[in-house]
Amino acid sequence: MNNTQYLLRFDDICPTMNWRVWTVIETALVRRGIKPLLAVVPDNHDPVLQVDAPAADFWDRVRAWQEWGWTIALHGFQHRYVTRNAGIVAVRKKSEFAGLPAVEQQEKLLRGVEMLEREGISPRVWIAPGNTFDDTTVALLPKIGIRIICDGYFRFPYLRPLASLDGERTMEKGWMTWVPQQLYYFRPAPPGVWTVCYHHNEWTESQIGKFREDVDNYGANIASLEEVLEKSAPHERKWSAWLCTHPRLSRFLIRAELKLWEVTRGRRQATKAVVADLTSRATHPASRYDP
Ligand SMILES: [Zn+2]
Repeated sequence: MNNTQYLLRFDDICPTMNWRVWTVIETALVRRGIKPLLAVVPDNHDPVLQVDAPAADFWDRVRAWQEWGWTIALHGFQHRYVTRNAGIVAVRKKSEFAGLPAVEQQEKLLRGVEMLEREGISPRVWIAPGNTFDDTTVALLPKIGIRIICDGYFRFPYLRPLASLDGERTMEKGWMTWVPQQLYYFRPAPPGVWTVCYHHNEWTESQIGKFREDVDNYGANIASLEEVLEKSAPHERKWSAWLCTHPRLSRFLIRAELKLWEVTRGRRQATKAVVADLTSRATHPASRYDP
């Protein structure tokens, strides 16, 4: 799996998240030196994310994660779904941004990023609540200093030219980097960048155990966002850009690709085992006549 990189992403990071589970996760990440991507909600108003009493030292913790080199992403503004719109990369129609006029989206983005900056946090990545945002959101992100989006079904990060609000390419030269997000648990995968996205609030004991196990098993292939971007050196990929904005098709293709990989991997492993067995019999004559 040498050319396979996994990026770990945790959504819904806010003062009232499940801290008991988070403590276990954080310990496992620190122990293995893993630098995840954390999607922080600036001003949570979503009752679903109110699991524990608010942590008084929440922003201290976020600053600490940032100092450790963990990547902080802006996860919307208040995590409230106000439109029935799937946006450009999702299927489910509920959004805090998609379908809203530019002026409203800009207000939310500015307020969200200001809240983080006031706390000394510099979000570098956009992760939309519900994975729902539209071309207007994408055009606005550079205004708040964000040039990386983590979303969509494709294999490798790619660049897309910045566009203005009316969809025209801007005079200002520049690119938006798109990083995929395709998995919700670890599984063997072909070469590529595979973002595993977790929502830990409802985790059971067995999910906690599985996470620890996976982090140990896949640890050698888990990378930080920096490492991912360095290794994959994103460039313009028109096919990926088209694919990721056709979510039904791209999700189907990625799932089919993973399934196929699993099947062929099983065959490769079986073949390897047979070859190893034959080699061992040939090189140890005593066992040549073993049944
Ligand atoms: Zn969320």
